[in-house]
Amino acid sequence: MPSSAVLPVVPRPGREERLSSWLNRLALFYAMPVASFLEYCSLNGADIAALEWRLGDDEAIALATRIGMTVDELRMMTFQEIARHARPMIYRGGGNSCPVCPPDLRRKTAAFPWNFWCVEHNVRLIARDGENLVMKLPETTLTSLDVNAHQGAMRLAAWAQGKDTAAPSVPQHLDFLTTRYRRPRSPSFESPRPQSTPPWPRYAFLLVVPEYDRVAPAFDRPVRAGVSSLTRGSLLQKYALTVALGRIATDPVGHVASVLLASDYDGEEWLHQTLQTWPLELLNRIYARLYRLRAARRNAAEREVSSWAAWKEHKSQNPDSPSLKIVRRESQNHARSRRPSH
Ligand SMILES: [Zn+2]
Repeated sequence: MPSSAVLPVVPRPGREERLSSWLNRLALFYAMPVASFLEYCSLNGADIAALEWRLGDDEAIALATRIGMTVDELRMMTFQEIARHARPMIYRGGGNSCPVCPPDLRRKTAAFPWNFWCVEHNVRLIARDGENLVMKLPETTLTSLDVNAHQGAMRLAAWAQGKDTAAPSVPQHLDFLTTRYRRPRSPSFESPRPQSTPPWPRYAFLLVVPEYDRVAPAFDRPVRAGVSSLTRGSLLQKYALTVALGRIATDPVGHVASVLLASDYDGEEWLHQTLQTWPLELLNRIYARLYRLRAARRNAAEREVSSWAAWKEHKSQNPDSPSLKIVRRESQNHARSRRPSH
């Protein structure tokens, strides 16, 4: 029968360390299998992974008594603050990792798919498959994108804790960002990729984060809809979605109007559907901006057409006009001498 004496030596948990990580390290410290260590703490048959998701009162008191910590300190190491709607997004296993942290120390922050930095060393996390953001984007680009990634991560963290009351909500933003603004683009026409590559879906977030669109690998497409988009895909894609959220939440009118401007007939329909639940006052401002953008584009096109027509009219009436003579003389000069001018 285990006694309730406090363990003689208890190393402090790391910053933001997960309960499962710390209990594993404690068991290792005492050279015991995890199951035996939990039994020693009066947690017979407990599942170490389940404890950090639901630490019951009795379990918390038993553990706190044995380890010499308060119940609140133990609860800080669990995911109890993560609301039910966000729990499917949290990495159950290792999550991303820090290249500086000890390999057996896993922090809560690394389990969130919207976090890209170690809370202790402030360096970029690396995906489990070794993917590193620096391998995909230049450091200077990443530095400017980080500002928006931090904004997006803060929104997502608040939403995950059920504390985000802003409208449009995080799911509404992500629904819009993962909606296609045009029919698929055929890679055979617009890129050197092989024809066997399926057409690329054109999601709204690709316009909001063009830096990602330029380097996105083929396996990064397609994307799941809404908040589920952050549960799959590469580290780079999650980073791009978090950046997109930061940008669109900061300037919804500008970004949504630009995406609508670039949409085709089908895409506009799809986007309209996701926008139906957005606040009416915001929609009014978005469509007013879209109206102005379309008018400006139309005016620019008309100006181009009318100046071209005027030039043609002028030429037909004045075939020996000075500008044409200059063009002719230049072409003659070019024919006489092929040496490049300096
Ligand atoms: Zn670290």
